[in-house]
Amino acid sequence: MSIKENNLSVYNTLVGKKETFIPVVEDHVGMYVCGPTVYSNVHLGNARTFISFDMIYRYLQHLGYKVRYVRNITDAGHLEDDSDDGEDKISKKARLEKLEPMQIVQHYTVDFHNVLRLFNNLPPDIEPTATGHIVEQIKMARTILDKGLAYEVDGSIYFDVEKYNKDNNYGELSGRNIEELQSNTRTLDGQKDKKSPQDFALWKKASSSHLQHWESPWGEGFPGWHLECSVMSTKYLGEQFDIHGGGMDLKFPHHECEIAQNKAANGKDPVKYWLHTNMLTLNGKRMSKSTGNTLNPDELFSGDTPLLDKGFHPSAVRFFMMQAHYRSMLDFSNDALLASEKGYQRLMNGIALLSSLEAKKESTFDVDTWLKKCYTAMDDDFNTPILISHLFDAIKIANQISDNKASLTKQDLDLFVNSLNSFVFEILGLEDVIVDNNSDKLSGVVDMLIQMRKDARDNKNWALSDEIRDKLKEVGIQLKDGKEGTTFSVN
Ligand SMILES: [Zn+2]
Repeated sequence: MSIKENNLSVYNTLVGKKETFIPVVEDHVGMYVCGPTVYSNVHLGNARTFISFDMIYRYLQHLGYKVRYVRNITDAGHLEDDSDDGEDKISKKARLEKLEPMQIVQHYTVDFHNVLRLFNNLPPDIEPTATGHIVEQIKMARTILDKGLAYEVDGSIYFDVEKYNKDNNYGELSGRNIEELQSNTRTLDGQKDKKSPQDFALWKKASSSHLQHWESPWGEGFPGWHLECSVMSTKYLGEQFDIHGGGMDLKFPHHECEIAQNKAANGKDPVKYWLHTNMLTLNGKRMSKSTGNTLNPDELFSGDTPLLDKGFHPSAVRFFMMQAHYRSMLDFSNDALLASEKGYQRLMNGIALLSSLEAKKESTFDVDTWLKKCYTAMDDDFNTPILISHLFDAIKIANQISDNKASLTKQDLDLFVNSLNSFVFEILGLEDVIVDNNSDKLSGVVDMLIQMRKDARDNKNWALSDEIRDKLKEVGIQLKDGKEGTTFSVN
């Protein structure tokens, strides 16, 4: 399918509705997604955001676009609260653990990459770091200062929101207006330097205790968090690019500030389509460390938490996430994960069955119409839950063909198999694995083979007993003979 035949529409937060996707440069897509601040393990809500944009990246590529996907690593300058005061999160953690800030950054960057690899995410094309772009950030702060839309106070540079708002609309993305913001903003300590409480730092003077700081025309300091994304997105994607993504909690102030900085510096709206992913809950409630209602990816994979009966394969978790639309809330629970895991296995079994079926002289099922429905779902703002319902329709047909209640010609069958494979593996990014390795069925089958092997051994049929052991090993099931009899583990 060529891109031109395609009719992708995306929900653009900036206009509050779905719009036909038309890239700035024909056939090319520039996509920027706000990456993690690497001072702790990646949490599940963030993982959902990155998995959602991985699916979007995969689908755009599938449609034939040449996509440049940029996702940053925030390794400096992320301040703890709106007061723009005190230490950034990385420095604070480094001080607590008596480590170099770059040790913290390295440790959690590796963790982040590992978790996303387990979820089968493709790496972005460029993964720039904030600390690698200090020079560019100083330059942008200086440009905004030169244009009169920022001011310097005692070695710090603040963005002048009120002045910017005279010719622009601060709040255009989040729907907030400046009067409301002014009356709602508390005056916090450390804000005494600012002209107005909603002004935000482009550059902060480093206090003597601040661990990460750089030389600038205004003295030793560090960049404000919002500035890095304005700088790195436009450096790698141009002053105007197609998609900017992130979790919806970043809409304000982060993304609002990004727009203001870019417009102030370049005089252009930086982003054509703003895409935001929704939050997730656990057992119907907000995740919170203080109440114990929290789940991290490691606990989810290992099952090492009182909230789950067992661990789940990362691919099954990914499938679970894809069963909800990226703009919908998603509730994690033991029962919902178990149900989703069953569905996943049904899908994998169906795909295997379909590949083994034989073609007939005529088709009783319209594969083209089915395929069109799959694309219509994905073209409708990446509607993966609807796509998945069509994939299960395909599995139903596979079963009917297997029962001789339906048939497909060679051409239709090939198209059906190839399309199903590309939606499941290439676009949704799932893996062809057995996910319910604790299932009763598998245990039943292996126990039966263990008994047959025991019988073979009792009859001194060593060839058969070895064959059973070796064949099981080939499919990843390891037998272990012990005093209590033979047990097995699944790799
Ligand atoms: Zn960002």
